Amino acid sequence: MTRGLRVEAHSATDVGRVREANEDSLLTGSTVFAVADGMGGHQAGEVASRTALEPIRELDGQMFASDQDAQDALIEAVVEANRAVVAEGDADPKLSGMGTTLTAVTVRDGKLHIAHVGDSRAYLLRPGDSISQLTTDHTLVEQLVRDGRLSREEAATHPQRSVITRAIGVEREIEVDSLPPIELQPGDQILLCSDGLTGPLDDAELTDLLDSDVDGDEVCRRLIASANDAGGPDNITVVLLRVSGTRQTAGGALADTESLPPVPPPGGEGRDGPPSAGQDGPTTRIHTRSEDVSTDDWAERMGHLAKPQGVDAGTGLNLKRERGNRGRRIVVVGLAVVVLLALAAGGTYALLSRAYFIGDLDGEVTIFHGIPSDVAGIRLHWVAERGTGVRTDDLPPFIADRVRNGEVTAASLVEARRTVERYRELVEEAEDDTGPDPDGATDPDEPEGEATRP
Ligand code: MG
Repeated sequence: MTRGLRVEAHSATDVGRVREANEDSLLTGSTVFAVADGMGGHQAGEVASRTALEPIRELDGQMFASDQDAQDALIEAVVEANRAVVAEGDADPKLSGMGTTLTAVTVRDGKLHIAHVGDSRAYLLRPGDSISQLTTDHTLVEQLVRDGRLSREEAATHPQRSVITRAIGVEREIEVDSLPPIELQPGDQILLCSDGLTGPLDDAELTDLLDSDVDGDEVCRRLIASANDAGGPDNITVVLLRVSGTRQTAGGALADTESLPPVPPPGGEGRDGPPSAGQDGPTTRIHTRSEDVSTDDWAERMGHLAKPQGVDAGTGLNLKRERGNRGRRIVVVGLAVVVLLALAAGGTYALLSRAYFIGDLDGEVTIFHGIPSDVAGIRLHWVAERGTGVRTDDLPPFIADRVRNGEVTAASLVEARRTVERYRELVEEAEDDTGPDPDGATDPDEPEGEATRP
């Protein structure tokens, strides 16, 4: 029996209510569809997400001889996306440190293939079923849930839930998740989305919004409106694929979708459709999180690495030393792979190893490496440079508060030092203005001459 399936694509993207720019990108072709959530700050994130979609776009409309070929091509396109984003970042210092998530699907022969990196998501909603997330988030909290250190509920609302552990454009090597192809059925809905949707909305809300008779464009509009109603903390991007069964495929979205083998239940493995498999064994490689990661006590390692190091020596992880010490540098690079994170305050993503912030240590303005938070008891920062000689209490109160809260971030040690120098000037100006007996910003209890380098 021949059965035709048609896939209609709908999409929408919105900046949300907090961000100034939309760094998400989306792709709806005829056979390939994707979302990418860029990171790296203004413009860089947009470049990253746009660049990552180009190799995916090139697959659109291509014919493949087998499931395996389609899957391989999709994975190779994601690997190429990684190469492209890394290359752009290398070529332009303004773009260095950029990255993006990438969740891409291709539809061939009535089957959905998925390749995925990051914390954007693909969902399947099958008529009469509850919605199921097809992709695994590459996030710190997801890892901690798997390690039994956080509950699923805690993870859903954790302030550092957008700390991601894998992204396109960050490292030259990329590990890509894929799944066995999913046999599409009439009535299926596939939702690709960035975390700007799934942060504010839970699975039940997504199901309610998808499970309606309205037009797909209207569903996309409602998804975005709901995320915005819930605060719209991030860019929101949705691609919705609706599968319908017809006998006609001409002009349909799936030009090469003509026949389907008997449909196994979703998640059923190993039963390749006889018509096209043409080989023994599973038809797809499955790239999931490598086994050694799950057996490794990853969080323990993180905890060790992220402990304040060399506080007494006043250095912590020193980049120059790392270069001179290969063993140490690998560890640091490994850490960079593991923890790519969203700074909650600025909303911008940064590599932990490249992230700095100004904080307070024993009353002194201090430069830290990492982010000013703990996740499940794991400290994600350590002292980069102390001994600035600037007392936090001497700063104007609103700046002092920001310093105490670790809200002043910097993209590099140089930038952090520059900020500290500005603070030093502020303190000196305040002293000049108020004279020796201040009652304003400076602390009268602080003996003069104390605020110097030890
Ligand atoms: Mg996002």
